[in-house]
Formats: sequence, structure tokens, C-alpha cells
Amino acid sequence: MFSTRAESLLHRQWGADLIGMTAMPEAKLARQAQMCYAMIALVSDYDCWKEHPKGLDKHDLLREILGNLSQATANAIELVAAILRGREPLIDEECSCRKCLELAVWTDPKSIHFIKKKKLAVLFT
Ligand SMILES: [Zn+2]
Repeated sequence: MFSTRAESLLHRQWGADLIGMTAMPEAKLARQAQMCYAMIALVSDYDCWKEHPKGLDKHDLLREILGNLSQATANAIELVAAILRGREPLIDEECSCRKCLELAVWTDPKSIHFIKKKKLAVLFT
């Protein structure tokens, strides 16, 4: 779903350059899982600062979005392939992302039922 032109103009008045509709849930989930996270944003709607050429319709917009997705996917595949060719570890255990839950659980570990500990082990090991 796209914002209306009025919404985009309002955001622009607030000083925003981009409106991201879906990034926050993923960022929060990655943080809770102590995963590093980077977002790739694909701009598809310039409605309040750049006029669309006359004659474009929703199909043209969908073609642009598909083109952007195809290019971003190709770039992501190349990035992952380059990482796999490299000698760097896939996970940086020293990154602060890996330690962000250190103070999240205040319950005495001895008081946590072993089944619960086992269930959450992936997050707290
Ligand atoms: Zn990180």
C-alpha cells in the first residue's frame, strides 16, 4: 500500500526524505534474536517531489518495482556469494548485536524451568 500524496507532503514538511512502511518489525525481531540487520530500501514512489511522466499508469509502477526487486535480489545473491568466497567468519561474535539481550532477563537463572531454558537456549547461549 502506498501513501497518498497528501501523506507524503506532510512527511516532507516534517523533514522526512523517505517513508518506510515495513522496516520496523523486521528490525525489532532481528534485535530480539541478536542478529545483525541491514535494510535494503527500494524507492518506488516519488509522488510529492518528482512528477511522474505523463502516460504512466499502475502497471508501469509495478514494472519499476519488479525491476528494482530483480536487481536487488541479484545484488544480494552476489553479496552472499562474495561473503562465502571470503575467509571472514559469517557471524561476528564481538558485534554488540550479539549481546543486546544481556540485560533483558532479570530472573535468576536458577529459577527458570529447564524446559523454558531449553526452549530459549538459541537466544541465550
Ligand atoms: Zn551486529
